[in-house]
Amino acid sequence: ENIVVKDLAEKLNLNVSQVITKLIGMGVMATQNQSIDGETAAIIAEKFGAAVEFIPVETNDVSEDNFGLDFVDKDEDLKLRPPVVTVMGHVDHGKTSLLDAIRQTSVTKSEAGGITQHIGASVANINNKKIVFLDTPGHEAFTSMRARGAQVTDIAILVVAADDGVMPQTIEAINHAKAANVPIIVAINKIDKPTANIDRIKQELVENGLIPEDWGGNTITVPVSAKQKIGIDDLLEMILLVAEIGELKANPNRRAVGTIVEAQLDKGKGPLATVLVQKGTLKVGDMVVSGTSSGRIRAMLDDKGKRVKKAGPSIPVMILGLSEVPNAGDLLYCVEDEKTARNIADKRRDKIREEQMKLSSKVSLDDLFEKIKMGEIKDLNIIIKADVRGSIEALVQSLNKLDTEEVRINIIHEGVGGITESDIMLASASNAIVIGFNVRPNLNAIDVAKKENVDIRTYRIIYEAIEDIQNAVKGMHAPKI
Ligand code: GDP
Repeated sequence: ENIVVKDLAEKLNLNVSQVITKLIGMGVMATQNQSIDGETAAIIAEKFGAAVEFIPVETNDVSEDNFGLDFVDKDEDLKLRPPVVTVMGHVDHGKTSLLDAIRQTSVTKSEAGGITQHIGASVANINNKKIVFLDTPGHEAFTSMRARGAQVTDIAILVVAADDGVMPQTIEAINHAKAANVPIIVAINKIDKPTANIDRIKQELVENGLIPEDWGGNTITVPVSAKQKIGIDDLLEMILLVAEIGELKANPNRRAVGTIVEAQLDKGKGPLATVLVQKGTLKVGDMVVSGTSSGRIRAMLDDKGKRVKKAGPSIPVMILGLSEVPNAGDLLYCVEDEKTARNIADKRRDKIREEQMKLSSKVSLDDLFEKIKMGEIKDLNIIIKADVRGSIEALVQSLNKLDTEEVRINIIHEGVGGITESDIMLASASNAIVIGFNVRPNLNAIDVAKKENVDIRTYRIIYEAIEDIQNAVKGMHAPKI
């Protein structure tokens, strides 16, 4: 079980910075709002002389991020589900054309003539089997979803133009798929072109770690022409084969959980969102919540624009009835009733507000004096990093003289060396500013500082550092430009 660092500190009756310092000592980098695993928490607790007892999490614990809405299904309840496919590759290699060609060849007779509705995903029917395609080609969509913790893709189709070869975005796509642990099928496109050279493409694939099956490796490659509709059926068959090997399963008989793949505001219909159902079956009339948006599903449309009453695992549907436009990549949960949905949405809204408040309440030299005046700050916590010990000592001595009646100056940590991520985490946890003397923050530290809103100041002259802080304390600080 995981526990948020701040909560652990509270339970142990400790200052959060004490816990973070111990964590850093163990090589674990975590901010106060991040969670650590139970084992680590137990070690920390022991270090502070406390015993730890593991209590199973109650499923309706509202402090959990998913509010106990999700649970693990039993193996025997799992049924096969269609694969969800993303098409990736270099610009102009034919991703959009390939998706179009697939749509055209896989329309059943009853669907022919219908107008496909753009809902961000489409379903192809091949010999009574379904394949779901995410319609936003490219790895940006894939990655931005993944960055939000949503993994909806089962198989990646890597499109490589046979007349052009492996290009920078091809390599990026390979890396993204690999990072997500998603199997890759290579579609070697534009084989109708006279300059097409399939062997050269395969050679380039080998150079990038993808060894084609017919060359003794395990990467499936399919020569296709999106334009001339050559090889499309082969590609679809290969997708089904890879899906079969992957044994993709989900429980269709439970309350639905899905991921928002696209959302927008329609002037007439209100918020519209495409949900890719991942578990369970989503039905018209269901009460749902996604992020801070909630509502009862008034209507659902499939990718052909047809009204449907329900959608099972892997099936994308556009839903109407949400209170606000949700974020792509957010999970959507079906819940018992309206009260539960509203409650969860409200709690999340409060949490976001609280986090924003916390960010804006972080100390910085620019508004220090304001905060001292308002009585918001009585201590100025400082972390000092410098190139040599002598500078630290000089700084500490001078800074200690700056104590006033209104504000006490506490050096909570100092050390020789550059400003690192762990310095920033400590600063964030203890609401401190970081002073670097003849040292700079590394890139990680800069990133974390931005996210955590930690003020870093670097100086080359001791006097300037002292003067800056003195001025800030006295309200004479000129804001940093
Ligand atoms: P995307 O940027 O990867 O989505 O590429 P597009 O699908 O927009 O295709 C880029 C260009 O390549 C367009 O002019 C297409 O008509 C052309 N194209 C795509 N597939 C083929 C193909 O199989 N053969 C030929 N000759 N041209 C193709």
